[in-house]
Amino acid sequence: MDLILLGAPGAGKGTQSSLLAERLGMEKIATGDILRDAVRRGTELGLEAKAFMDAGELVPDAVIFGLVKSALETPAAEAGAIFDGFPRNVPQAQKLEEILDEMGRTLGAVVVIDVPEEVLVRRMSGRRTDPETGNVYHVEHNPAPAEIAGRLVQRDDDREETVRHRLQVYRAATEPLIEFYESAEVPVYHVRGDRSIDLVRDEIVSLVGR
Ligand code: AMP
Repeated sequence: MDLILLGAPGAGKGTQSSLLAERLGMEKIATGDILRDAVRRGTELGLEAKAFMDAGELVPDAVIFGLVKSALETPAAEAGAIFDGFPRNVPQAQKLEEILDEMGRTLGAVVVIDVPEEVLVRRMSGRRTDPETGNVYHVEHNPAPAEIAGRLVQRDDDREETVRHRLQVYRAATEPLIEFYESAEVPVYHVRGDRSIDLVRDEIVSLVGR
């Protein structure tokens, strides 16, 4: 069974998908993480994606489909995948259906993490990543251990102006997926994401846990 985490940038999809993957023995597939890694390594994919990412725009669908397919074909994803940051629009959702069908997999549920917009902007501007582990922290709400604090970095696209644009892209392109999945009769669960990380995780596990 595969799961999708939906929610605006900064809603906590990255944090929750890591925790859930561990708790449920599933593989996290985060297209944003895969792209950032490609940018860091300077691969062809990274060069193609960087300008879109820096502008807070979506990377072209054709680029994303290749990534998702290869991620799903790894042995780690056999038991189930948790998608974070994918699908991002209706064509991506349709393509995902096609890929899952071909592979004989099923989409078990969609979890939407709801967070008020002013909280999102505050969260993203304080967000910091550990480049060595990919773990995500927040300067106030989830500070990193002192011994690694010095190596944390801020994502280029977490500047306030870009954050606001990413929120617009989310509302226009991604939010319609909630209705898409409701009419496809996939179970869609809403959880309030402006609470502690543990509470949000426990609620998601109780909704989708096996
Ligand atoms: P994220 O880490 O999910 O917020 O993604 C960061 C950036 O990577 C986005 O603003 C997009 O530019 C790009 N990106 C990540 N996932 C996708 C996707 N599924 N489709 C298109 N662009 C994506």
